[in-house]
Amino acid sequence: MLTVYSSDHHLHRGVELKDGAITESFENPLRAETVLAQVRAAGLGDVIAPRAFDRACYAGAHSARYVEFLAGAWDEWTATGRTCQALPLVWPVHAMPSSATLPEFIDGKLGFFAMDAGAPINAGTWDAVSASANSALTGAELLSNGGARAAFALCRPPGHHAGHEYMGGYCYLNNAAIAAQALLGRHRRVAILDTDMHHGQGVQEIFYGRDDVLYVSIHGDPTNFYPVVAGYEEETGAGPGDGYNLNLPMPHGAPESTFFERLDDALRALARFQPDALVLALGFDIYKDDPQSQVAVTTDGFGRLGGAIGALGLPTVIVQEGGYHLESLDANARAFFGGFAAAR
Ligand SMILES: [Zn+2]
Repeated sequence: MLTVYSSDHHLHRGVELKDGAITESFENPLRAETVLAQVRAAGLGDVIAPRAFDRACYAGAHSARYVEFLAGAWDEWTATGRTCQALPLVWPVHAMPSSATLPEFIDGKLGFFAMDAGAPINAGTWDAVSASANSALTGAELLSNGGARAAFALCRPPGHHAGHEYMGGYCYLNNAAIAAQALLGRHRRVAILDTDMHHGQGVQEIFYGRDDVLYVSIHGDPTNFYPVVAGYEEETGAGPGDGYNLNLPMPHGAPESTFFERLDDALRALARFQPDALVLALGFDIYKDDPQSQVAVTTDGFGRLGGAIGALGLPTVIVQEGGYHLESLDANARAFFGGFAAAR
């Protein structure tokens, strides 16, 4: 297995409001460094840098105008004299007749292209975000050109909450969706399995009307849990995509056995779809002590998950999503990749 990693992720770090105070976001650089150290320590194969890709390679997952906005947002923001991180402060509400029109002013654009205030932009955000997406693309390319049967895109920022035309939930470009789109150049049918604690509503939106990409997600019940707006069982796809979107929510506080029951359901769906390649959106935030967790997956459980994915024997791009319990990230990453490698 090859790991694709760019130190450019250090160029992006956000802050967030917590208990009335501004603190560093727990989506921070230490997350990626902790997993990288484990990949190196466990001898899981070479670590390579992503190659550069043209912005056009993000098309299929994102609109050109959204990518253009992301790339230029910081310059537009600082041109107004502000140097703090850029966050949306206004959102176009549906009741307004002009709400579908792209605003010209950066403050309007920030709201237009955001689902929430969870994706701040600072000076290095675009470089970090594009390096993260390029890591996923490099992983997909390695599979397609025969350079590897499995690749780990150590992405930061994460991506699965980024939609066709919006950022949110720490996500800007949808790394898993971009990888799946790239794999379709060489593979006929691609499945995305998302085992992050949160539903990847961005992935769902991007492929909702399509039958060439199956999206299966195991996540916490979104009724009162992020991303709230999607992740329900009745969301099964639309038009040609009907039946190609499978949501497997778990009740909050579920035991580890519930996760593995959902995983069995997910693996059955994959077997029916018969993909030629797999993208795993891997979140470590299902760990029992993660601050975001609503399910009690253990370190041993990560090994079992890795084994189940490895045993599929598919060309696989593993894309890193969430995971915020720094103290356990190394052990959980070691367990997952150990299980994965042993089953190949
Ligand atoms: Zn998550």
